[in-house]
Amino acid sequence: MDLSDGVLLVTSNKGKLAEIESILGYIESMKLFSLSSKYPGLPVAEDGRTFRENAFIKAKKYAEKYNVVTLADDSGLEVTYLGGRPGVNSARYAGENATDSDLVRKLLKEMDGVSDSQREAVFKCVVCLYDPSTGENIFSEGECRGRISTEPRGDNGFGYDPVFIIEDLNKTMAEIDPALKNRISHRANALDALKDAIISLNLI
Ligand code: IMP
Repeated sequence: MDLSDGVLLVTSNKGKLAEIESILGYIESMKLFSLSSKYPGLPVAEDGRTFRENAFIKAKKYAEKYNVVTLADDSGLEVTYLGGRPGVNSARYAGENATDSDLVRKLLKEMDGVSDSQREAVFKCVVCLYDPSTGENIFSEGECRGRISTEPRGDNGFGYDPVFIIEDLNKTMAEIDPALKNRISHRANALDALKDAIISLNLI
């Protein structure tokens, strides 16, 4: 896999894009492109059953359309009490056009009255790098453990951050500095592993 022409980052979520750029930006020789008028967003049916399948579907679709090495991620929240939901449906949990506040409100409603010991949750992220010229792909995965709060706290981040209390910190993901989130999040862990793979495979 040759990354010398740069890598297209497939996400239209500004929060995720900033996190990905901040982590992979450390590889100075690696050019990163995001969606733009040159690489417009495409309709992709994220109908995989796992984060891994969805990351692959997105990376392959964009890579083949634009003929450029592409990095896609799929991520979400698994809540033990809900049997792993919302999981791969995290973005659509409260309906197709739901806002972040709709997601948070629905989750807190489903968790209403659930005891503290049953509120464990984990954020998961899978990233996939896909090279359209060879069909080669590299995956890496990361997670971040915590629990669901009983009310939203904090203004940073996006999605479920205000109700996700990070293990050992007693703060929600929305209460911590974004720079700290970029070091400890599920996405950070997946991207750190990817960065290690890129370096050890001499791809750059
Ligand atoms: P996708 O990866 O774009 O399919 O969507 C994942 C969904 O999971 C997002 O829309 C968020 O609702 C949620 N999610 C993923 N990562 C995070 C995170 O770091 N913080 C909060 N919510 C997240």
